[in-house]
Order: sequence, then structure tokens, then C-alpha cells
Amino acid sequence: MKNSAKNFVEHYLKPSTIIIIILTAANIFMLASVFGFDLVSSEIPLLITTTGQGHSYDAGWRTVRMRVSAYCPCRKCCGKHSDGLTASTHRIRRGDMFIAADNKYDFKTRFVIPGYNESKPVEVLDRGGAIRGNRLDVFFHSHKEAMEWGLKYMDVKFMQ
Ligand SMILES: [Zn+2]
Repeated sequence: MKNSAKNFVEHYLKPSTIIIIILTAANIFMLASVFGFDLVSSEIPLLITTTGQGHSYDAGWRTVRMRVSAYCPCRKCCGKHSDGLTASTHRIRRGDMFIAADNKYDFKTRFVIPGYNESKPVEVLDRGGAIRGNRLDVFFHSHKEAMEWGLKYMDVKFMQ
């Protein structure tokens, strides 16, 4: 019994066999990480899990359904706050794209809102009296553009 066990070890566990086992394990690990990376970048729903709060997670981005309205710096939209400064004391410059959100989202929290800023991330730089909970206000430079946006209910992504 002892001899056959020794034979088994000598026969199968030669240094070359051990190297092959290690290389195979390394290959499997590499393939898994490559596969995993592809899953993340192509946003296949496999990696998305949902929590009790209705948020789903996707490589750090959470998706949440929101009511997205629009505003501009005019008196109609901002009333007495139409002073060219946002609630985060950001001075509005030509070409700026940003949003107002509830204070549960810190300033600078990034959001991706389909159709706004070419669907590229924008930061929370402002607050609004009516912008509470799952409501966002996207900023436009003209009242006309804000009116054209109207009101949309959509899935947006955010990363804090
Ligand atoms: Zn306006």
C-alpha cells in the first residue's frame, strides 16, 4: 500500500506535471479575468444585481428610475436664485452641463442621463426646492431648450 502510493507520487507528480498543473491554473485564472472584464465593459446584465432599494449595480454605476425635468438660469426657472451661481457656488459658464439633485446626492456626484450632454456623465452642482428624492433637473442655457426637454421618466446611472 505504502509502495503503491509512493509509485503514484513518483509517476504522476513529476516536476513537469506540477508545472503543467500550475500553468493550467494560471490560464484558467487569466481567462476568467478576461471574461469577467468583458462582462463589465459590455454591461451584460449577468453582473447586475438588485438590492432592496431598487438600485442595480454595474461596475460601480447604479441605475435608478428618475423623474427628469429641465431648467435654465432665467427668473421663471430660478426665481430669486437666478444669480448665475449654483447651490454649490459654481459660477455658470457658457457650455456648462450639470444637474440639480436631492441633497442625498453629494455635489460632484456623477450622473449619466440618456440624451443629456450626449449621454456623457455630468455632475450634481445644484439643488432645487422641488428637486427631492428621485427627481433631477438638467440644466440648459436657454429656456427654450429646457422647455423642449420637458419632463421624462427614465433610468439614469449615477456613481458617488
Ligand atoms: Zn428658464
